[in-house]
Amino acid sequence: MSFPSAHAKVYSTPNGVLYLREPACCLLMRPEVDISGTREFLEGYGDSFEFAKYLDDPTTIPPAELLCKFAGQLCYLSFGPKRTWHHKANEYFANIRSSGHGSVLEHACFTFLFYGVSRSVTHELVRHRAGAGYSQVSQRYQDIRTVRFVERPEYQVIPELHEMFISRIESSYNEYIRVADILMTKQAEGLKELTADKLTDLRKKVNQCARSVLPNEVEAPIVATFNVRALRHILEMRAAEPADIEIRKMAYMMYCLVNHLAPILFEDYKPTQLPDGTYCLKTDTSKV
Ligand SMILES: Cc1cc2nc3c(=O)[nH]c(=O)nc-3n(C[C@H](O)[C@H](O)[C@H](O)COP(=O)(O)OP(=O)(O)OC[C@H]3O[C@@H](n4cnc5c(N)ncnc54)[C@H](O)[C@@H]3O)c2cc1C
Repeated sequence: MSFPSAHAKVYSTPNGVLYLREPACCLLMRPEVDISGTREFLEGYGDSFEFAKYLDDPTTIPPAELLCKFAGQLCYLSFGPKRTWHHKANEYFANIRSSGHGSVLEHACFTFLFYGVSRSVTHELVRHRAGAGYSQVSQRYQDIRTVRFVERPEYQVIPELHEMFISRIESSYNEYIRVADILMTKQAEGLKELTADKLTDLRKKVNQCARSVLPNEVEAPIVATFNVRALRHILEMRAAEPADIEIRKMAYMMYCLVNHLAPILFEDYKPTQLPDGTYCLKTDTSKV
């Protein structure tokens, strides 16, 4: 079965410039966990502790929860019969959250591909450094014909602004292509600022200059990996009501995916619908 994803339709202006109207998110990686290999370690403490029976817990919990719970219970060697059993995993993680022991949540990671997101959104996203990894389309290397744009939600409901958006992305795309054409001509003529030995460097010298005319609403696909502690912080900052609607939509979409896969780790979040129809998240246990 494939991983969950939420895709976005690609639109075209009358003159063929491509744009999207929604953030899209594909889950690329989630935890896969097998703790059965710990049997010898658990048995090594002797039969009297009954630690190995931890592996026979009759309740199944999702992999991310299992990983973080095992890691957390290692801290106190809480593997014996008096431990918190898996059927009380909700209580276990409520305690982790309320006591601020969020470091155990750093073991579980998720990787996403986001597209249909603008450069302004991803600029906000990449400010989150702790527990995060990013790989983003390079405007210096991408083929200039692959540039697409993202229409803000407000423009989609105000016809005058929608028309301005269409006209603006057509003109900025055309200017971008025109600048690149002029640069390539000058490059072929040997202008020293544009020369390079390798083919990729030649393209880079053109693209890095031409991209200066692209607006914030250019699309900026990005692959992002977050551990659950970092992810929770990002959700609290970016799915909050004061966040920009574009990143709030993206963050809420990410929440829906991970809440589906690791419901106990995100069960404290309360989604609330805002007057504009989008959702924000609230929790009583922030920044664990
Ligand atoms: C509504 C909103 C408005 C904003 N407006 C602006 C703005 O006007 N201008 C602007 O520049 N930015 C702005 N930001 C970005 C904000 O300042 C942060 O840079 C961004 O949210 C990343 O969060 P973070 O600092 O918690 O970093 P993360 O990387 O997400 O770090 C998570 C946590 O780890 C700890 N941490 C991370 N790095 C360090 C470190 N180097 N030293 C010590 N502790 C660390 C901190 O406790 C931090 O909260 C805004 C953010 C929001 C949500």
